[in-house]
Amino acid sequence: MNFDLTKEQQMIRDEVRKFAKKEIGPQSEEMEETGDYPYESLDKMGELGLMGIPFPEEYGGTGGDWVGMHICIEEISRFDVTMGTLLDVTTSVVGQELYEFGTEEQKQKWLIPIAKGEKIGAFALTEPDSGSDAGALASTAVLKGDNYILNGTKQFITNIGLDNASISIIAAKLENGKIATFIVPKDAPGFSLSKRYKKMAWTASATHEIVLSDCIIPRDNLLGDPERGLAQHLAVLETGRISIAAVAVGLAQGAFDEALKYSMGRKQFGKKIFDFQAIQFKLSDMAVSIELARNQYLKAAWLKDQGRDHRFEAAAAKLYASEMAEKVCSDALQIHGGYGYMTECPVSRYYKGAKLLQIVEGTSEVQRLVIGRMLGGKKR
Ligand SMILES: Cc1cc2nc3c(=O)[nH]c(=O)nc-3n(C[C@H](O)[C@H](O)[C@H](O)COP(=O)(O)OP(=O)(O)OC[C@H]3O[C@@H](n4cnc5c(N)ncnc54)[C@H](O)[C@@H]3O)c2cc1C
Repeated sequence: MNFDLTKEQQMIRDEVRKFAKKEIGPQSEEMEETGDYPYESLDKMGELGLMGIPFPEEYGGTGGDWVGMHICIEEISRFDVTMGTLLDVTTSVVGQELYEFGTEEQKQKWLIPIAKGEKIGAFALTEPDSGSDAGALASTAVLKGDNYILNGTKQFITNIGLDNASISIIAAKLENGKIATFIVPKDAPGFSLSKRYKKMAWTASATHEIVLSDCIIPRDNLLGDPERGLAQHLAVLETGRISIAAVAVGLAQGAFDEALKYSMGRKQFGKKIFDFQAIQFKLSDMAVSIELARNQYLKAAWLKDQGRDHRFEAAAAKLYASEMAEKVCSDALQIHGGYGYMTECPVSRYYKGAKLLQIVEGTSEVQRLVIGRMLGGKKR
């Protein structure tokens, strides 16, 4: 067994950490306050090749691996969770679905700009009456001549409101009742966004409802097997689970860093609060749980790179890391006392941001369901 990162993976970690600290960290508070996206930083992420780490160079990527991609997601999320999640949705989910299931033409047209960071993609599965029960979706796709006509509503769609969002990958039911996935350009006739949601955190991620009203897309935009669209979606969401775990670890690490620093500077009863055992024990528990979650997402990503089954490991990483992040952020806030509750204190932002990680890309309950099924005989 070898726990060492490769030279390339170490390089990604060190370079992205430096970049995120200098470029992303200083903008995070303003971003959350105004909800404005830092497009220039996104361009820089593209120039550094961060959006295409796991894809081959011929498709605009850098020919790296999923371990490297997830280290990058952790390092960005340490300074801003919205930017970290953009990598999850655009690269791990949308980019991967195009790469794994797209035709050569689709890859040339849609994957390359995404892998280079020139455009970003959204993933639209959730509907008003179909959340955890994704198979119950009601959107429809009817083939008419050379076009598909899509109708339906997708809710809570991350990043689709950003100026450089070019496409959504949308799941819809065919006339035969099977679910297929489609590449739907944002400028397709009949595609529109309703009002931007107001969220308790992650304000810059421009989340909207998508309305498909006789939306016309060429039949060439069908992605992959028309009868296995949901299976394709769920397969890439397995990687999404690893990515959300990496986001959670980054967020928790950011909160821990702040708490450790504060505990060394803040004095009460004539000594640093770090010297109180109650505070030190809290920090020890935080450090241990972050490291365990990190090891779990790295293991899941490594298994993926080996082409091995990682369903259990990905669900376990997502479940453990997202629940860990909420607890660590709460403890980090507690260590800051009253100051932790002030919006100017970064941990107040981290605390609010942590909750969402237990909901997106499969709730904690759904992860337990997936794990439970495997315990019941499907695996292990
Ligand atoms: C900010 C934000 C961004 C999002 N971005 C996207 C996006 O980009 N694309 C996208 O497609 N979706 C997105 N979502 C949707 C997200 O994936 C769903 O909210 C999530 O899957 C849960 O679905 P739901 O909200 O309909 O809850 P429901 O499925 O209605 O669940 C409600 C509660 O019941 C529990 N529950 C449901 N079924 C079971 C069961 N069988 N056993 C036990 N408990 C169960 C759930 O865990 C939850 O606690 C986003 C959501 C938010 C809040």
